[in-house]
Amino acid sequence: MSNLYTFRGGALVPSYSTARDISISTPDAPDTVELPIAAEGADYTLAVKEGDGVFCGQLIAECEGDVRVYSSVSGKVNGFSVCKDIHGRTFNSIIISNDKKYTPSEECVPHSKKLSETTPDEIIEKVRRLSITTDGGVALFSVLQKGANSTRRFILNAASDGAYSTVNYRLSIDKASDVISGAKIIMRALGVVNTDVVFGEDDTDAANALSESVGKSNLFTFHMLKMKYPRTHEKLLVSALTGRELSYPLTALDAGYVIVTPRVCADVFAAFAKGMPPVNCYVGVDGDASTYQRTLCVPRGTSYRHIIDVCGSPSSDGAIISVGGGLVGDVVTDYDAPHLLPAAELIVSTPKPDESGECINCGRCAAACPMRLMPMLLMLNSRKKKYQRAKRQGLYECIECGVCSFVCPERLPVSRLIAEAKGALEEKADSPLAEENKEVASDE
Ligand code: SF4
Ligand code: SF4
Repeated sequence: MSNLYTFRGGALVPSYSTARDISISTPDAPDTVELPIAAEGADYTLAVKEGDGVFCGQLIAECEGDVRVYSSVSGKVNGFSVCKDIHGRTFNSIIISNDKKYTPSEECVPHSKKLSETTPDEIIEKVRRLSITTDGGVALFSVLQKGANSTRRFILNAASDGAYSTVNYRLSIDKASDVISGAKIIMRALGVVNTDVVFGEDDTDAANALSESVGKSNLFTFHMLKMKYPRTHEKLLVSALTGRELSYPLTALDAGYVIVTPRVCADVFAAFAKGMPPVNCYVGVDGDASTYQRTLCVPRGTSYRHIIDVCGSPSSDGAIISVGGGLVGDVVTDYDAPHLLPAAELIVSTPKPDESGECINCGRCAAACPMRLMPMLLMLNSRKKKYQRAKRQGLYECIECGVCSFVCPERLPVSRLIAEAKGALEEKADSPLAEENKEVASDE
């Protein structure tokens, strides 16, 4: 562990979190949970009806796209509704009253074979059936399918990142044994014989806990990352470890790097040890306007209001509540909406002062941008709605890390304006993400 790995650019963002020193806790349970079934307009098949009793981990719906929805509590189906996720997308949903007993479904049975006797296909099938996702919401089975027998490196990303990053740090300590066991299951699915465990130089407690669980095994190699944001972004992690730079649209997975977090490994282990799908969300509650700082384990579909209430944090005195522990986040506008992200930070913060100033061309954002962009130009063209020009200046290389906004002495919303330009282009179906560019709407 002598090398200290890093990447070009970025910013020194110290942790302001006090929740890092406190073990994950399970707060008072919510009376109901609301679980999205499928995006409005998408096909789905219900496995339950109103009034039915349900158990924790019971299949309640199957949707197009190979997605299954499992009850996160035991109780009774209260009814059906619609809800919005943090990005404002609308979903049909199911509301379940929680009997607070968490009686497991009979469908949840431990895996009966030893790992050495289990084939990679059997592992991938179980991960698919239990709908385990990455922290970013990508189906894990598709990652494992793509990575099986073609993985250059399997990386367990146990580094924290940003001002309020707690969840994966705490999981590395509180569930170290589960995390390492889950990583071994993924190694077998991928056909690799080593896991690169990366952690921050400020995360030594987490690294020590994981190392203790590894014991004398030589299947894990630990690497220390310099304290710099955004070191956990997949492209920058690959750059730090290998020196290889990945340009849009090449992803780390395309290039043969399978990267998972401790939360993913812990969920994979639970799937094998108990047959339980991921029914809980881990959420770090923190921020300068938060009364109590905690990392919580709550049933999937718990409302933001309940999470904030159990932490005694104010939800009506002008504080901004956002999801995202780095330098960027999505503001929660509906406190009664269900929280669904398997691992996320909820930041309760005081509003920033006015951000409508002018760029003084100091160049700090360009010096700090890890993707070697000129953020001030992208911001300027976004403000002027010159989106095509911003595109030619590398708009789609931007990973929306927020470093440019963080270092700006004028406190300009640089990264937000850049993200707005991407959104505007995508609305025009002029994004490289769209199938084929049809008519290019020129803004020049
Ligand atoms: S331009 Fe994009 S990638 Fe560069 S610092 Fe700003 S948000 Fe990060
Ligand atoms: S850091 Fe802010 S003020 Fe300086 S060049 Fe970038 S956008 Fe302009």
